[in-house]
Amino acid sequence: MIILKSPREINIMRKANQIVAKTHEYLKNLIEPGISTAEINKKGDEFIREHGAEPSFKGYRGFPASICVSINDEVVHGIPNSQRILQEGDIVSLDIGTFYKGFNGDAARTFAVGKISKEAQKLLKVTREALDKGIKKALHKNHLSDISHAIQSHVEKNNFSVVREYVGHGIGTDMHEAPQIPNFGSPGHGPVLKEGMTLAIEPMVNVGDFKVKTLDDNWTVVTEDGSLSAHFEHTIAITKKGPKILSKI
Ligand code: MG
Repeated sequence: MIILKSPREINIMRKANQIVAKTHEYLKNLIEPGISTAEINKKGDEFIREHGAEPSFKGYRGFPASICVSINDEVVHGIPNSQRILQEGDIVSLDIGTFYKGFNGDAARTFAVGKISKEAQKLLKVTREALDKGIKKALHKNHLSDISHAIQSHVEKNNFSVVREYVGHGIGTDMHEAPQIPNFGSPGHGPVLKEGMTLAIEPMVNVGDFKVKTLDDNWTVVTEDGSLSAHFEHTIAITKKGPKILSKI
């Protein structure tokens, strides 16, 4: 069942997501060659708590850190580690979740570490654009898969692939609520979107094949072919006036 939120609840979710957005802005400035992923996690954890929220990923199904930090061919769920040091030319995806006054915030961004290759630049641009195109279809009375289709079309037009095994999701008092939001599919299917739905839309895009696997740490998801992967995510609310991006400053 898809839980509709009242304007009051959406307002609280906006605050939860504003803390996520501010944490991204703060961490963006710390990303440079030489910093460890554990340090990024520590700074992010402190920032979230200083702003009155809890890092919702911490302990979620046993996840051992507050922020997912995924480098290069790592797609999602990278575990921060003091031995993992960012290098010039890397791309790094940060996925950040907050819990604030009973509601969740969730957004992800992929950043460049110093100067990155042309291909990596294109990957970041196309993934960000795919998210924007998906959000533009998040309209009252559209079908859910209109979002999925817009994302997949843009990614494949640019000769990249969308990950199939991980998907976007409804969000609210629970971090993961119905519906699941695949980043692929034909338009016109799935539930009809309605004012009051709150969705985390999150394309994960690979330079090579869409296939992924999970490492022995049971968390880190990597591309099977070792190609680069990017991840952009926003939490939005459906309104009759169009999608409202809650995790954008
Ligand atoms: Mg998410």
